[in-house]
Amino acid sequence: MKLLVPVKRVLDYNVKPRVKADGTGVDLANVKMSMNPFDEIAVEEAIRLKEKGVATEIVVVSIGEPKAQDTLRTALAMGADRAILITVEGPVEPLAVAKILKSVVDEEAPQMVILGKQAIDDDANQTGQMLAALTGWAQGTFASKVEVEGEAVKVTREVDGGLETVSLKLPAIVTTDLRLNEPRYASLPNIMKAKSKPLANKTAADYGVDTAPRLTIVSVAEPAKRQAGVKVADVDELVMKLKAMGVAK
Ligand code: AMP
Repeated sequence: MKLLVPVKRVLDYNVKPRVKADGTGVDLANVKMSMNPFDEIAVEEAIRLKEKGVATEIVVVSIGEPKAQDTLRTALAMGADRAILITVEGPVEPLAVAKILKSVVDEEAPQMVILGKQAIDDDANQTGQMLAALTGWAQGTFASKVEVEGEAVKVTREVDGGLETVSLKLPAIVTTDLRLNEPRYASLPNIMKAKSKPLANKTAADYGVDTAPRLTIVSVAEPAKRQAGVKVADVDELVMKLKAMGVAK
């Protein structure tokens, strides 16, 4: 079984985002960029399926600026077999990503596409669902467990108030939630080996997809600064203050 895993290069989750002075977006100049954490989980899950003998090949794909190559090399170092870099100038919205991925799916014919549930930069949570619509495949989103059973995949989903288990006919789309697994770190020898793994270079134009944004960002603002706290002498004073604020009765 061939698996396709789309991985996005995003602002590292440990970096505090700085909004550009003109309020048009987040400043990405000279900041650490990494693989979207949910995509690391997707790569890990694909590797585990290969280790179990369920999957035979893992193809990772990234759409974005040329530097997304680093993200693909990380995925190769973790254990993916082959990478496709699809370069696009400027920002690319989930619909354009999903359309490009649809062309990659047509070309590669994977049995399953495992995406992150959301990219931590745009927080869109759209690409997997849109790709499911474009391919007409079944989708299992927010997966916390993935089990391939013959011609189907059983996906345990994290839903409000519990877990829902669905069975999808393959080929299918799966998106990962946080509790699916804990991704491995790439070892130094594997980082070296990844340098010689195949990486194909393409452009969005090769797939005939128009990546022009459909949305205009009106403004981006930093979250309101937290007010400084006040120290209280004892519980009585705390309760009194909470009552005064209307928080306690
Ligand atoms: P989003 O819908 O933007 O929140 O992204 C959901 C998932 O789609 C991500 O976790 C990735 O697996 C995939 N994805 C989104 N954008 C890209 C991209 N530019 N390149 C590769 N994969 C992407």
